[in-house]
Amino acid sequence: MTSIDSLKSILDLERKKGYNNRAVIGGLNNYLSQNIHDIRQNIKNSQLLLEFDQLELVNSDYFACTVSERKRCIDNALLWLSSLMEMRNSYKRKQYIFEKNALLIKTGISHKRTEKLDSPISIISGIKSRVTSNFAKLDVNTIRDLLYYFPRRYIDYSQKQFISELKQGEDQTVIATILQSRIVQLGNRKGTEAVVADESGNMRIVWFNQPYLAKKFLSGTRIVISGTVSSFNNQRTFVSPEWEFLEDTDLIHTARLVPIYPLTSGLYPRQVRKWTKEAIDGWIWQINDFLPTSIKKQCQLLDLAEAITSMHYPTNASAAFEAKKRLAFDELFILQLSVLSRKKDWQEKQPGNKFTIPQEAINSYVGHLPFSLTRAQKQVLVEITNDLRQPIPMLRLLQGEVGSGKTVVAIFSLLISILNGYQGALMAPTEVLAEQHFNNIRTNYPDINDHQQSTNSNFICQCSYFNHRFKVALLIGSLKAEDKKELQLKIEKGEIDLVIGTHALIQKKVNFYKLGLAVIDEQQRFGVLQRSALRQKGYNPHILVMTATPIPRTLALTIYGDLDLSIITELPPGRKQVKTFCLEQQDIKKAYAFIRKQTMNSKQTFIICPLIEESEVLETKAAVEEYKHLRKNVFPDLKLALLHGRVPSIEKEKIMQSLRAGEIDILVSTSVVEVGIDIPNATTILIEGANRFGLSQLHQLRGRVGRGGAQGYCILLSEKPLIESERLRFMEKTNDGFILAEKDLKIRGPGDIFGTLQSGLPPLKVADFSDIRLLEMARQEANKILHRDYTLEKAEYSLLNEQLNQIRSKNMEWS
Ligand code: ADP
Ligand code: MG
Repeated sequence: MTSIDSLKSILDLERKKGYNNRAVIGGLNNYLSQNIHDIRQNIKNSQLLLEFDQLELVNSDYFACTVSERKRCIDNALLWLSSLMEMRNSYKRKQYIFEKNALLIKTGISHKRTEKLDSPISIISGIKSRVTSNFAKLDVNTIRDLLYYFPRRYIDYSQKQFISELKQGEDQTVIATILQSRIVQLGNRKGTEAVVADESGNMRIVWFNQPYLAKKFLSGTRIVISGTVSSFNNQRTFVSPEWEFLEDTDLIHTARLVPIYPLTSGLYPRQVRKWTKEAIDGWIWQINDFLPTSIKKQCQLLDLAEAITSMHYPTNASAAFEAKKRLAFDELFILQLSVLSRKKDWQEKQPGNKFTIPQEAINSYVGHLPFSLTRAQKQVLVEITNDLRQPIPMLRLLQGEVGSGKTVVAIFSLLISILNGYQGALMAPTEVLAEQHFNNIRTNYPDINDHQQSTNSNFICQCSYFNHRFKVALLIGSLKAEDKKELQLKIEKGEIDLVIGTHALIQKKVNFYKLGLAVIDEQQRFGVLQRSALRQKGYNPHILVMTATPIPRTLALTIYGDLDLSIITELPPGRKQVKTFCLEQQDIKKAYAFIRKQTMNSKQTFIICPLIEESEVLETKAAVEEYKHLRKNVFPDLKLALLHGRVPSIEKEKIMQSLRAGEIDILVSTSVVEVGIDIPNATTILIEGANRFGLSQLHQLRGRVGRGGAQGYCILLSEKPLIESERLRFMEKTNDGFILAEKDLKIRGPGDIFGTLQSGLPPLKVADFSDIRLLEMARQEANKILHRDYTLEKAEYSLLNEQLNQIRSKNMEWS
């Protein structure tokens, strides 16, 4: 109850009681003097305030008045009050009608359009060819695209206010009548100024650069203004606010949650709103909901048409939330259906290769290692061998921190495949890493009975394990053409048992004789497509993919939703955490001094040159320059070497060898050393331009040092002042790859962490990775459906099937 309502009921009572001044304790005079401030506050309009102040009741001593004087005072005051209240009510009624107008987006029967949803957007009047091409940049071509072109956020203009109540700095809306408008000179540009009024007062509004509005704003027209209230010459005002005539059909720019779309140059917010509104009015009735009713009920989801409508023009925040939930669910659900049905395809359509795993072989392997396996490594080996024993192809993701010892697990699995008479393949993202794996096996499993060492070349060698002789080959892009050919032939004939290589492994010309297990190292460097390509080299081979990039669970379920997960949760004992320091560029001398000290203790150092995205040429050039500079000016007395993507393979091989032999003090390199390289004697890594890297990448890089038991150091050089590099400083604080990945995910989004890996997946436009509950719900429902009807042939799933096929046809990697 406002103070005005209270006053009115007191005066009513006073009249009823015969004006005996008993309606309130202490008498009317007393009441008025105590409450006059509140009452006046409530009146607002200056004209009305004047009238109130002149009321006899306010100006006389009620206690001293005669009954007839009292009667006159009260009756006049009541009359005045009721006229005030009537005005308020009529305003409220108008406001009510207005709200109904504004908030009900009519899915207008009258505007129903019959052209198909796949028609080009140009059938909407006003969308000309220039606009069409601008929309095309946003991937919006058809009416359906336009319906699915969602706002990034909303501005909340739903708070409606009297002019006199406007608060500075807040987003607010007033409904007013235009008193006058004119073109004005604002600085050196022309603009429009209007004076508008409501029951509570009037105000001036200006629009910069829009002189044409002056003509549109006819006096007497009701207008709705939404914007942020600012102050001009000590008066509250709106500067270039959103506006709309109250008489216009539905309000879309003002007085509501107003959608803000991701635009491109040449598209303007008001136009775009008009068109999305038109698309909804005209075509939403054609949207068929593909989600089975049972799922909608179970997960409490809106109907599709309603969700799309609300996503654009929600009536309030919770409607927007519900709309987003439904549309995000759709994305996750379709994605889960796709990955899970692919998994079923892979695992259930045809049987896989069932391996036997002799216990002695395991013992021999474990006995052969120079260390004992960690508990986590053993656990993972059990999980893998359990898979390999089944006639169902394994699909497993092995995740483990940098340096947690994934390689031994991979090699063991490959040896099992060979013992079972199958070929194995190990694919790595860089030649350097592939070579490292190759040399690793060559030296750890030499065939001591091999009397024809001459058959060994630098890409084929003879090994032996558990009394079993086998041939290992290295297949990389930089092999000579004739060598490659020879190798491909041998692989096809089954003369090679284990092939280690790069992308070269999945070229068309490579055909395996009998591929039993394919391992993909550093999976985050490959795409889904490459995984399937390798898999297709065999008859349902087992697949093991490995990654050191810790993946937040939501992402793992999304991107790797078809893989079972094994995690190596601990590092080998005795590993010290790499100590990390951030330095500004100008303090680089300190870093050099530190490196020099390390070399004196015969420890090795990596210096990583800045990442230059999208230009390997520039990056290489920068690395070459840096190498020259360091060799000439900084470390002329030390042994330096240079490594980048364009160094020829033989050269690379030599560098890695001398690095391993301790003949090089400092390796200057581009980020190619990032993945997998294992040089136990390297203790220090200096990363230049560290702010250009993602945290997960930096974490990978620093994982290159301190692998041999000695303390490792990582120096991050920032091109920006450290005060601005909160992200970098985070590296000093934590050594936990998961935490860093999550932080990266928050700051830079998934694309950055996972790069190519994201490509080929249907893009998630609405869903975000933090919503694990929704994701799990989607996964569960997808599983249920596939369980019931794996091919989605039942009538109730026909729309769903259609939807899935549509998305698959757009994303070829999915089929
Ligand atoms: P990543 O998981 O990053 O691929 P690697 O497999 O390259 O790690 O292993 C890192 C280093 O740790 C290698 O030198 C490897 O020989 C060693 N290593 C692996 N497992 C163990 C263990 N259980 N105990 C001690 N050292 C180990
Ligand atoms: Mg590795």
